[in-house]
Order: sequence, then structure tokens, then C-alpha cells
Amino acid sequence: MTRSVPEIFAENVFSDEVMKARLPKNVYKTLMKTIQNGRQLDMTTADFVANTMKEWAIEKGATHYTHWFQPLTGSTAEKHDSFITPASKGMAIMEFSGKALVKGEPDASSFPSGGLRQTSSARGYTAWDPTSSCFVKEGSLYIPTVFLSYTGETLDKKTPLLRSMDALSSTAVKFLKLFGNENVTRVTSTVGAEQEYFLIDKKMYDRREDLILTGRTLFGAKPPKGQELDDQYFANLRPRIAEYMADLDEELWKLGIYSKTKHNEVAPAQHEMAPVFTTSNLGADQNELAMEVMEKVALKHGLVCLLHEKPFEGVNGSGKHNNWSMATDDGQNLLDPGDTPMENLQFLTILCALIKGIDEYSDLMRISAASAGNDHRLGADEAPPAIISMFLGEELDAVLKAIEEDYVYKTQTRAFEIGINALPSFPKDSTDRNRTSPFAFTGNRFEFRMVGSSDNIACPNALLNTIVAEELSQFTEILEPFKNTDRFEEEVKKLLKTVLKEHRRIIFNGDGYSLEWVQEAKRRGLPNYPSTVDCIPHYTDKKNMCIFKKFGIYTENELKARTEVLLETYSKTIRIEARTMIQMARKQLLPATLEYIHKLCDSIAVKKQVGMSSAVEEKMAEKLNDLAEAFYDSIENLEIQVNHACEIKEILPQARFFHDIVVSEMERMRTTSDTIERIMPCSQWPIPDYSAMIYNV
Ligand code: ADP
Ligand code: MG
Repeated sequence: MTRSVPEIFAENVFSDEVMKARLPKNVYKTLMKTIQNGRQLDMTTADFVANTMKEWAIEKGATHYTHWFQPLTGSTAEKHDSFITPASKGMAIMEFSGKALVKGEPDASSFPSGGLRQTSSARGYTAWDPTSSCFVKEGSLYIPTVFLSYTGETLDKKTPLLRSMDALSSTAVKFLKLFGNENVTRVTSTVGAEQEYFLIDKKMYDRREDLILTGRTLFGAKPPKGQELDDQYFANLRPRIAEYMADLDEELWKLGIYSKTKHNEVAPAQHEMAPVFTTSNLGADQNELAMEVMEKVALKHGLVCLLHEKPFEGVNGSGKHNNWSMATDDGQNLLDPGDTPMENLQFLTILCALIKGIDEYSDLMRISAASAGNDHRLGADEAPPAIISMFLGEELDAVLKAIEEDYVYKTQTRAFEIGINALPSFPKDSTDRNRTSPFAFTGNRFEFRMVGSSDNIACPNALLNTIVAEELSQFTEILEPFKNTDRFEEEVKKLLKTVLKEHRRIIFNGDGYSLEWVQEAKRRGLPNYPSTVDCIPHYTDKKNMCIFKKFGIYTENELKARTEVLLETYSKTIRIEARTMIQMARKQLLPATLEYIHKLCDSIAVKKQVGMSSAVEEKMAEKLNDLAEAFYDSIENLEIQVNHACEIKEILPQARFFHDIVVSEMERMRTTSDTIERIMPCSQWPIPDYSAMIYNV
């Protein structure tokens, strides 16, 4: 890098600094008000902003602009229009109007809508979201937008997040007033998403149809060495990886993403990038952008970045740790225990709101991380189980126990009296960590560890915000009558006690990966939804519908539509995987096996002629022949089951069938193929094996 980081940082972002420098003062002020209060922008201001944006973007090499949105497909979408406008005498000028900035009308009929578009108007539109930053990339000005149907139904992942942020803000502001925070006007949820990924050589990737079509290996025998030595975690970076990471950082920095941490992860060929946290909205956009940049930079290095949750069987898959908290506009982190007794009380109350919320709506948290890809991780030995629980650490847990059981808690470690007679002394900087919990308190934030590596984090954050909004509004209702009275603290304590008694079951500080926990969770009555198909139908449970409606996150129709899209996506994913397996098996793996058997038979015949023993060849040929027969049968069988699944008309039964029958059939077929692979010589196996892929970079 020839230029310094501060020099390149955010150079491709239409940042606050750029706006301040380029927009007339009054325009800038109006725009900021719009951003802060979520008001509509008047057209004169919009025209001004658009023109300034265009000039700036052209200086950065842009010729086009695009409304960038996040439909329910799982990736971002963009359609580019050039600034070109015909001028007199066949010339062209570059134009960009406020109208084009604020609203777009992509032909949206091919995006999943879960039937919403049949009930409403056929077209959708995109609308500029000024709370996220515009940026220039590959010759286009990118404008972050929300995507809605003409009747206002959400068709994207971003709108619910924005709605949930507003819901959280308004309820949290009211709640905070009870604790003397009269000046807070806005509470924003924050997120820092640690992104895991794999890097493999492009040459290997190109030879694997499963990776190309599905993002994961559908075949492949485990290599002799996996991750058992833990020698990859935090290991020094091999030169090619170090070069990739340096390049990635630079590209992310230019786009204003505070890429902060990079390291090797547990599995061979696995790595992580973590940015500095920011508001949920920007954080979600930036994570989508980061994933795209990660993939593109990899290609420049002859590598492929795999973001699938489980690219390789037998070693860890990838997730995305969603670090979440709330910040006030006067600079408080609401999950920071704080320095004064009142701040401590406020913190403990918020904590209990979370405990109650996560217990009551654990199904929503589970749903927010549900996908066909993530089904391979959750509940395996590498990621939190499919059961939602919360980790608070021993000390914090002990503090809560003391509240619940009415005694004064004295800690061994650093602590201070919080002064309120009814409450125990409070430990700060409790540093114990638990890596096996799906929802862990880590000192000043919660880390939700279930999210899949390729997931859009908008969904988990939208659901989390909504849940917390609901609990804070309930708490406010209960405590409001006691505001500014001497009974306030007593009433808070009473409330916390009740909440803890009812919801303690969600707290678990032990080993979340253990089998005992599954038993224990069952005893506690905690829901366990092992797969996507088990949890998604609960999206539309009455209690869930209620809070979405209450805070205007989803209407009943929107929620039903989303449920359908999720289940359909699941079925389609499995269908593609199954068909890819069938194709690879028929066109590559089985023919290779038969060819090798043929070779062995030739060799047997030749040896027989010269009177040599062909015992080895005979044994191998026989064994392979049996396996080839089994392989053939399972290909036929899988095809029958996939075809059957495709004929099922109803969405849920179809997804169920894919899960119960097709997935198990796929597993059976893979076992046979992997056994064959272990016997076959490398030179005869048509696709790169695991060692070649994960130890090659
Ligand atoms: P670890 O792997 O030890 O959990 P990392 O440093 O890899 O920690 O990632 C921690 C993430 O948490 C970073 O993205 C960081 O910015 C984020 N984070 C820190 N404080 C907050 C907060 N208040 N709200 C949201 N995210 C936060
Ligand atoms: Mg980390």
C-alpha cells in the first residue's frame, strides 16, 4: 500500500465529511434532519443532493448509478443506469435527478415475494435509505435502498430492520426516562459481525461442480488430518493468505468499512474478518458489501472465498458472530454496567428484559439463523446447539441469583457497592468467556453465535430489536407509575425478581455442546428445533404475529409470505444439491469407478496369462464392484425421491419431505461414494480430494 490508511479510508464513500464539504449549509442541514428523524426529503433538496452526488461520483470514475437492495434471494441486487442523457446535436450530458436518487422502479417480478405480488400490485419499487452511505464501486454510484411493493409491503431484508430500529428507539427512549435519562432522544442498536470464511485455490474449485453449483462439497472423504491439532487457530499467516488479507483490508477500508481483526480460524483453510461495530443498519449493509468484496478480492489472488456454512464435512463450518448492543445519542452503551448505582440498576433491568425476551421468543432467534446451510452447523460439535440459551458468566449470574433470592451478593473479585440498599454489590469486568453458548454476554454486548456465515444479518438484528422493544415497553408500563417516587427502586427489584423466577431457565453457563445439555434443556422445557423445517413454521405463531403487528415490523401477510419464501428456499436448495449429486455421480464418479474396475480386470486377465497371482486386483475389483452397485442403486433411489418431492404441491409438506427423505438419501449416497474414494487411486478419482483443497493454499 503506497498511501496511508487515513488517506484511503472511505475514499469511495459519499460520507458525512464529503457532504459537509460539498453541500450548501442549508441543504446539508435539511438532509441531516431527514436522516435523523426519518422524514421525507423535499424534491429541491433531493435534486441538490443528487447533483452533488453525481459530480462526486464522476470524479471517482463513475458513469452509472444503481439502487442497491436486499431482496429475499439471499444476495444483494443491483441494476445499473448510466448518467447519460441525450443533448442537442447528438451529444450527451451526465444527469442525475433527485427523483432518480429517491425512487427506482426495477422490474421486480422475478424476486421471491411469497405470493405477496399476486395479492398486491405486480411491481415493486426501491426507495433511498439515507441512513446508510452511498458509495462508488466498479464505475457505479451505489445507493442503498429499501425494496417494497406498490402497496407498501416489504419485499426485502432491510425494511424490517429499519422498522425494528425505530421501534426499539422509541420504546427504549421512554424506558430510559424512568432512570433519569431525560435527554436521550434516540437509541440505536449496534452490531459488529465477525465473518468467517474459507479460501481455496481457484483451480481446485473449478474442478468441483458441487462447489460451483451449491457452495459446498457434496462428496469427499475426510482427510487423515483435520482440525484435531488446533494448529490452524490463530496460526501465522501463510504468504498467500497474508497478501489476500492485506488486499481485502485495503478494499474494505476504501469503502469505509472498519475492518479491524483478521486471523486464521479453527478449520484448515478457514479465516475470519471482524470490523469495528456500527449501527445495525449500516452494519448489515457493510456486511453484505464485505462478503462481496471478500469473494472478488479472492479471485484476484487465484483463490475462491467460500461463504457457505459447511463447505467441508468433518471440519468446522463457518458462522457469523453477531455482536449486538444498544447505544444512546448521548453516548451510553446500554449493555455496559456503568459507573453509578443508577446506571447499574438500569443495566440490570435491561439485562432482565433481554432474559425475558430471549426466553419468550427463543423460537424467533432460532428462526433468524435457519437455513439449509446452517442446518449442518447447529447442533454439530462446532457451533451452538439448535437450543437457544443465554450465557451470563458466573459472577453476573450470581448477582441475579442474589436479587432473585433476596440476599446481598459479595464478590471475591473487583467489585463496588452500588449503593441502593436493596441491590447487591456489582462486579465489573467479569471476563469469563463461554464459546459454546448461542447467546453470550461478553462484558458490554451480547454475542449471538448462531448466525450462518452467508446469512444477511438484517434478519437476526431485526428480530432481536423487536423482542427487546416489546420487553422494554412492558417494563415501562409496569414501572411508569413509580417514576420519581421513593418506591421506584423497590418496584424495579420486585419486577426483576419476578422475571428471574419465571425465566431463569434460559440461563445456562455450562457446555452448550454437550449431550447433557440437550437433556437438561428438555427438562427445562426449552424448545429444540434441530432443523430449518422444524422451526420456520413457528414464525407465524400467534405470539410472534402479535409483536410484529404491534411494532409495525410485519403485517400478517408479510410474515406469511416470508415463512413461505424461507421454506421454498430450503426445498430449492436441497433439490439443487440432490440433483448436483446425481449429476456428478452419473457423469464423473461412477464412470471413474467402473473404469478403474475395468483396469483391474484387464490386469487380472494379463497376469493370469503369464501365470502371476492377481489376488490383490481380484479383491479390489470385487470390493469396488459391490460398492459400485450400491452407488448405482442409491443414485437411482435419490432421483426417484427428488422427483417425488418435486410433485408435492404444498410448501411445508414438501420441505418436510426434502428434509426427512431426500437429505438422508443424499447422506447415504455420500457415504458409499466416500468409501469408494478411499479405495481409488488419486489418479483415477476425477475430482480434487479434501487434502488437495484445504491444505493447498
Ligand atoms: P472475539 O472473537 O473475541 O469475540 P472480535 O474482536 O473478533 O472478538 O469481535 C468482537 C466484535 O464485537 C467486533 O466486531 C466489535 O466491534 C464488536 N463490538 C464491540 N462492542 C460492541 C457493541 N457495543 N455493540 C456491537 N458490537 C460490538
Ligand atoms: Mg473473533
